[in-house]
Amino acid sequence: MEDLNQFRLEVRAWLAANCPPSQRQPMGADDQYWGGRRGTFPSEDAKLWFERMRDKGWTAPEWPTQYGGGGLSPQEARVLKEEMKTIHARTPLYSIGLWMLGPAVLEYGNEAQKQQHIRAIVNGEIRWCQGYSEPGAGSDLASLQCKAEDMGDHFLVNGSKIWTTGADKCDWIFCLVRTNPNVKKQEGISFLLIDMDDPGVTTSPIPLISGESEFCQTFFDNVKVPKENLVGELNAGWSVAKALLVHERKLMAEIGSDSPRQILQPNMAAREYLEFENGKIADATLRNALVEYDMLMQAVGLTHFRSFEEKNHGIRSGAHGHEVRRHGS
Ligand SMILES: Cc1cc2nc3c(=O)[nH]c(=O)nc-3n(C[C@H](O)[C@H](O)[C@H](O)COP(=O)(O)OP(=O)(O)OC[C@H]3O[C@@H](n4cnc5c(N)ncnc54)[C@H](O)[C@@H]3O)c2cc1C
Repeated sequence: MEDLNQFRLEVRAWLAANCPPSQRQPMGADDQYWGGRRGTFPSEDAKLWFERMRDKGWTAPEWPTQYGGGGLSPQEARVLKEEMKTIHARTPLYSIGLWMLGPAVLEYGNEAQKQQHIRAIVNGEIRWCQGYSEPGAGSDLASLQCKAEDMGDHFLVNGSKIWTTGADKCDWIFCLVRTNPNVKKQEGISFLLIDMDDPGVTTSPIPLISGESEFCQTFFDNVKVPKENLVGELNAGWSVAKALLVHERKLMAEIGSDSPRQILQPNMAAREYLEFENGKIADATLRNALVEYDMLMQAVGLTHFRSFEEKNHGIRSGAHGHEVRRHGS
């Protein structure tokens, strides 16, 4: 514990010296840095802050140092997070690679894949997107049809993925592909990494009612994918996919708990806009809604804590994020 206190003091001093004041301000979507081959920094300070954190390995605090990570224990990583939160430090790198793919590659990838991809994720060099959903395979994901045929030295991929967030800005995509159509649905799926610069990969933004277009459909037309891009065993991609979803659920449950955002919290909004009677919000329906929200946020906090404690004790985290979402929906 004393070591942890010492670590906290060191982190505090390092952050005080290295986090530029502008990077301790609430941020909007335009202030986020997502890395990648075509990534641009929102400001010089954002670049400096990212580079300092990257050089410490603190864009991925708990990942092994041999791949550029920080090598921190879960307790140390938590201290870092708490200290960053205390000074309102911004998240230096937003990345699906950090949140979802990296943990799956660390668990299921071979050494060559770790060498190729993990450091590039830590360093923000490659921006990843997720190729799971298809026009006919959303909730029923195992029905996916995008196929990868074994051509000896490579796979030939044909089909499409939908709702691929940010695909038009990404460099690589991790995909679930059908490698055997003649078995139980889940047993004929493989997990492939595909460079989106490869011939035959195209993306098409899907216009939303807001006029913005965060989502794409991504098409694969006779794309040659090297065999070494298969993560895990052939036809065993469903296990990799599920492990990755555990990390995605955690991410969903943590949204909004990192960098301070320019949003009005419900409690603050209530104080500003609602009428009060005897120190209580006058409208009972709104009062109840606000209490429910507070209780949910407490539950989210406790769920994070449970996840953290499980990790400390080497227990693999299950579907806690799902629980939080279910209770919240
Ligand atoms: C913000 C956001 C970002 C996303 N980003 C990505 C991404 O980057 N990559 C990616 O691969 N996917 C992404 N998705 C897709 C997402 O993960 C789901 O796969 C997808 O939204 C669900 O599929 P669908 O839209 O085809 O809906 P459907 O599966 O068609 O479901 C439509 C409705 O029917 C209901 N329903 C479905 N099946 C049943 C059933 N058997 N019984 C009763 N009701 C049922 C559902 O609950 C839902 O209300 C994203 C989704 C969102 C919202």
